[in-house]
Amino acid sequence: MAETLPDDTLDVVIVGAGFAGMYALHSFRDMGLQAKVLEAGSDVGGTWYWNRYPGARCDVPSVEYSYSFDKDLEQEWNWTEIMAAQPEILEYASHVADRFDLRKDIQFQTRVASAAFDERSNRWQVVTEAGETFSARFCVMATGCLSVPNTPTITGQESFAGAVYHTGNWPESGVDFSGLKVGIIGTGSSGIQSIPVIAEQAAHLTVFQRTPNYTMPAANAPLKPEFLRQAKENYPNIRAEQRASQVGIVGYGFGFGGAENVEPTEEIRNTTAAERQRLVEEEGFLAIRRYADVALDEKANELACDMYRAQVSRVIKDPETAEALMPRDYPMGCKRPVIDTDYYETFNRENVTLVDLRKGGIERITPQGLSTAQGEYAFDVLVYATGFDAMTGALGKIDIRGREDVALKDYWDAGPRTYLGLQVAGFPNLFTVTGPGSPSVLSNMIVSIEQHIDWIAQCIADLDQRGAKTIEATSGAEDAWIAHVNEVAENTMFTAQSCNSWYLGANIPGKPRIFMPYVGGVGVYREKCAAVAKNDYEGFLLRA
Ligand code: FAD
Ligand code: NAP
Repeated sequence: MAETLPDDTLDVVIVGAGFAGMYALHSFRDMGLQAKVLEAGSDVGGTWYWNRYPGARCDVPSVEYSYSFDKDLEQEWNWTEIMAAQPEILEYASHVADRFDLRKDIQFQTRVASAAFDERSNRWQVVTEAGETFSARFCVMATGCLSVPNTPTITGQESFAGAVYHTGNWPESGVDFSGLKVGIIGTGSSGIQSIPVIAEQAAHLTVFQRTPNYTMPAANAPLKPEFLRQAKENYPNIRAEQRASQVGIVGYGFGFGGAENVEPTEEIRNTTAAERQRLVEEEGFLAIRRYADVALDEKANELACDMYRAQVSRVIKDPETAEALMPRDYPMGCKRPVIDTDYYETFNRENVTLVDLRKGGIERITPQGLSTAQGEYAFDVLVYATGFDAMTGALGKIDIRGREDVALKDYWDAGPRTYLGLQVAGFPNLFTVTGPGSPSVLSNMIVSIEQHIDWIAQCIADLDQRGAKTIEATSGAEDAWIAHVNEVAENTMFTAQSCNSWYLGANIPGKPRIFMPYVGGVGVYREKCAAVAKNDYEGFLLRA
C-alpha cells in the first residue's frame, strides 16, 4: 500500500465531487483556505456521473435545479428542456468544473476508507483505500444521500450468464439493448424512468414489480427561448422564493415552457364521486394536483388514490395488468414523488411483460433468468433498478472515528443522530452535507446543498476569526433537534404505518426504521440554522 506523509497544510478535506463537493471546494478556496476533494469516480457530477441509465433525468425545473452562487454562470448556461436529462446535467457539472478550475484540487479515482479525529492535533486523518493519508483541520462529507446502490441479495445471483447492470452505476459507454431480452427489477423512480426507454430498444422487456408506485406524467418539453430569457431576468426573485419555500422549488419551469403549473387549492372532500370521475376523464392523473388536502388528510388521500386507480384502468388495456399496476396498500405521497414519460403506456406494448411479484416472489436467479413462485422468466440482460442505501449509506461505508475512537457506525446503530443534519456530537470539525435531520432529499437538493456549504463556510470563518480550534454539537442540542425532527414528521403521510420508503430506511434489511430527513421546510430550516449561528453557535461547543 502506498502511504504518504500527512499533508499538514490542508484546511479542509472534502469527500465527494458531486454538486456539494464542487461548491464546497469553490467556496473554501474563495475564502483562502487550502482544500482538497477526494472522489471515487473519475470525474465530477456525483449522481449525474453514476446514474447514466436510459431515461435518467431531473424532476425539478432545470432553471431551478442549478447553482445560484455565481450570477454570470446563471446567465451563460442555457438549459434546453423544462427538466434536464442526465447528459445535460453532467455537461453542466463539467462546465462548472472548467469555469472555476475545480479539477486541479480534486483527486479522482480515490475512495476514502476511513477518517479519524486526532485529539492531540485537532485534525482529521483521512485515509484512502489505496492507503494515502490526508490531514486537515476540517472534514466535509459531501458523499451524497443516494450514492450507494442497493443490490438485493438473491439466491443464485452469481450464476446469471448475461450482463448485469445497476441503474445507479451505469457504464459510461452506455448499453445497447437492441435485439436483446431484458429483465428489470424495481419500479421506483429509476425503474419508471428507464422502463419506457429500454422497452423501445429491447426485443422484449420483463418488468419485475414488487410494489406498484404512484407516478405523475412529467409533461416535459423543450424550453422556449422566451421563457429562458424571462427566467434569467427573474433569477433574483426565483432564488429568493426557492429559499423561503417548503421544498426549494417554485415550479417556475411550468407554465412557460410547456407544462402547466397548478396550485392545489380545492379540497377533494368537497367533491362528489361523479365530479371526480369527470375530472379523471378530462385531466387524467393530473386532476389530483388540484387538491390541497391530499397530503394532509387520510380520507382525502384515499379519494385521490381512487381517482389515481381509475385513471390507471383507463390507460392500461389489459385489466389484469392494470390491476397489478394499481398501488393499494399505502398512501399517495408517503414515498418520494415519481414523475414519468409514457410509463403506463409502455405496458400496452406487445414486447413488455409485467410480473406482479405479489402473486409469487423471486425465488432465485438462474443462468437464463429469474425463477419466481409463479414461473420462470428468461432474458439476456438483467437490470437492477433497486435503489440505494439512502442518506446514511455512504457515511456507513467509511470507518469514521470521533473523540475517544468512537465509530460513527456504532453511534448511529439505532439510527442517525445529528444536530441540524450538519454535525454529530463527539465528531468535532466534521460536517455532513444534506445529512439526516436536514431538508435534504425532501427538497431541491441544489438549494439545500448551497445553504449547507454557505453555513459551513461561514462557521469556519467565524471559528478562525475567534481563534477557536474546534466546533462540535452538544448531545443536548442533538437530542432536542432529533425530537423536533420526529415531532414534525409525526402524523404526516411520510410516517404512516403502511409506508415503506427509503426515507424510513425500510428498503434495506436490518436498517432501523427512522424518518431521516427534516420535513419542517427549507425556509423554516434556513431560519433556524441562521439563528443558531447568530446566537453564538447555540448548541455547539467551540474550543480554543
Ligand atoms: P452526489 O451527487 O451523490 O455525490 C457524492 C459523491 O461522493 C459521488 O460522486 C461519490 O462517488 C462520492 N463518494 C461517496 N463516498 C465516497 C468515498 N468513500 N470516497 C470518495 N468518494 C465518495 N435531486 C433533486 O433535487 N432533484 C432531482 O430531480 C433529482 N434527481 C435525481 C435522480 C437520480 C437518478 C438520483 C440518484 C438522485 C437524484 N436527486 C435529485 C438527488 C441527487 O443526489 C442530488 O440532487 C445531488 O445531485 C446530490 O449531490 P451531492 O454532491 O450531495 O451527492
Ligand atoms: P427506489 O425508489 O428505492 O426503488 C427501488 C425499487 O426496487 C422499488 O420498486 C423496490 O420495490 C424494488 N426492489 C428493491 N429490492 C427488491 C427486491 N429484492 N425484489 C424486488 N424488488 C425490489 O430506488 P430508485 O428508483 O433508484 O429511486 C431512488 C431515489 O433516487 C428516488 O426516490 C429519487 O429520490 C431519486 N431519483 C430521482 C429521479 C428523478 O426523477 N429525478 C430518478 C431516479 C431516482 P419495493 O417498493 O417493494 O421495495
